[in-house]
Amino acid sequence: MIVSSHNLENTPSVEEIGNLAATIQASGADVVKIVTTALDITDCARLFQVLVHSQVPMIGIAMGEKGFMSRVLCAKFGGFLTFGSIEGAPGQPSITELLDLYNFRHIGVATKVHGVIGKPISHSKSPHLYNAAFKSVGFDGVYLPLLVDNVSDFLNTCSSPDFVGYSYTIPHKLDGLRCCDEVDPIAKAIGAISCMIKRPNDGKLIGYNVDYLGAIAAIEEQLKDSISGSRSPLYGKLFVVMGAGGAGKALAYGGKEKGARIVVANRTYAKAKELASKVGGKTIPLSELEKFHPEEGMILANATSVGMKPNIDDTPIPKVALKHYSLVFDAVYTPKLTRLLRESQEAGAAIVYGTEMFINQAFVQFERFTKLPAPKQLMRDVLARNT
Ligand code: NAP
Repeated sequence: MIVSSHNLENTPSVEEIGNLAATIQASGADVVKIVTTALDITDCARLFQVLVHSQVPMIGIAMGEKGFMSRVLCAKFGGFLTFGSIEGAPGQPSITELLDLYNFRHIGVATKVHGVIGKPISHSKSPHLYNAAFKSVGFDGVYLPLLVDNVSDFLNTCSSPDFVGYSYTIPHKLDGLRCCDEVDPIAKAIGAISCMIKRPNDGKLIGYNVDYLGAIAAIEEQLKDSISGSRSPLYGKLFVVMGAGGAGKALAYGGKEKGARIVVANRTYAKAKELASKVGGKTIPLSELEKFHPEEGMILANATSVGMKPNIDDTPIPKVALKHYSLVFDAVYTPKLTRLLRESQEAGAAIVYGTEMFINQAFVQFERFTKLPAPKQLMRDVLARNT
């Protein structure tokens, strides 16, 4: 007999949930079921604490999008069962997602927890990518969308040693950096992290920015036939970066690391100036880029959000200017073939898709999470199926 309690308001304290569980058990229940409402993702941790210490079979779940983690991780903390909907509902995985996306039947006490921290986060394709990759190499880990309001609260509350690795996305890349015990020098210079790992020997949180590795690796790959020797193919090239936000900084620092000469163009000129001064580069107003062609064979990177869905007819630079570039990269990856990339191709430039930046940084993160080589083709296939 399952005896249940539903709290549609909030998630009470551990003590209150424990007392409720005892009352339910005293009623003669074989299984105690307590369902609460998550007002914050950290509410899930209180349910996990009660589940772990329960002496009777117990179902403990928090409703709402912020309680999503409890529906998947109850398996790790000894929950008796979880619920999956037929078609999926806000905050509730479907049965297919539980079994095929989150590998629910393989989640156990020792499973390592990873996830992408952002707000909003339900649109993220990362869980598809990492869970499939974990499964394919037999890694005992799960990767969740983590709808976090306050990064510091989340990290302090969900501090079990098995919560080991996170990706960071908008708007938490800066807050993530502030919560690190140690930060990689490039991430510090960029002022944002995209990845955080809990170091196994001392539990310290180490922050990295792997966005730049992803973007630069994709560009280098496309240019690699054009050089000989061990230097980066970006070395000495004039590298024009449009945009001075998170992606712009990652590209400008990455290009500088490889010895490129950096020019930053941004709608807000002051931001372009600030970034250019940090990477020892030059600045140009975005509106003047059309007439800018000091030399042929330059590299162009779009790190603005211009051209992103739904504004797919927009482009950050007129087509006529593109003939001076040998390669054009677009960080925008929805759609995959942006107007900028289509016009660059027509102007004779090689192009690099934004999806390449995304997949390359995912390879790096996977290897940091698992210490195993990334199953690259499988991850490419999963991304292609989900974009
Ligand atoms: P961000 O920090 O918010 O920066 C946005 C940038 O776009 C700023 O430079 C902003 O200029 C510029 N911008 C926005 N609207 C503009 C407009 N109408 N005209 C001209 N410039 C405009 O965002 P972000 O994180 O850098 O992301 C930028 C783009 O890169 C997004 O499309 C994002 O999806 C993409 N991205 C892709 C990857 C990947 O893996 N492929 C990774 C990260 C980001 P102001 O400074 O003047 O506002």
